[in-house]
Amino acid sequence: MTIKIGKANDNDYVVNDSHVSRRHAQLTRDVDGCLLLIDMDSANGTYVNGSRIVKKRVSPTDVIRLGDRYSLNLSEVLKSRNDYSVEFAALREIYDKYIEQKVKIQSSNQFKTRVFQSLPFALTGLIGISIGFMGKGNPILWGGSLFIAICAPVVGIYLGAKQSAKIPGQLQDLANRFKIKYVCPKCGTFLGEIPWESLINKKQCPVPSCKAKWVDE
Ligand SMILES: [Zn+2]
Repeated sequence: MTIKIGKANDNDYVVNDSHVSRRHAQLTRDVDGCLLLIDMDSANGTYVNGSRIVKKRVSPTDVIRLGDRYSLNLSEVLKSRNDYSVEFAALREIYDKYIEQKVKIQSSNQFKTRVFQSLPFALTGLIGISIGFMGKGNPILWGGSLFIAICAPVVGIYLGAKQSAKIPGQLQDLANRFKIKYVCPKCGTFLGEIPWESLINKKQCPVPSCKAKWVDE
């Protein structure tokens, strides 16, 4: 990949600025995939973070200037060639966060459900033992403990079921938010619950008319 940048119309990225040379700079990728900005002997120079350069590795966070006033937006330059690798890289975090939160919702609900279901049994046992011990021969206490022994598990099962019923709603909310964010940076198509690592192996947007590339070669 080589993107020619300058004022002449036959450049890949045409810049309309009187201080920019006809063939000002060139953007390529070096062997390990890093972006390399090369000044093509321009009259007014190419600057990265304020320093004049001849050849320099650049990343989207660098401030790039052509001549003395034109600021070059690296991700815009790449996008002009359907290269959405910068935007696509940001989707990794969105996917990882989604999975992390999904697991969190499931495991915290499972834990609460289990507590609700098992606590009453433990409680009943405890109450039963103490009442049985203290209230030997007392029919009211005995009746009371029997009542708790029957009711507590029912309540526990009810609460447990109620808790696990919350899961689908919470997961749905999470999935809805994910669907808005995990999209092709160019056409906005939802990319599905496909891991980021699998998507990057496909190298481009699944929508044929989109042509957005996620990996540039
Ligand atoms: Zn797309």
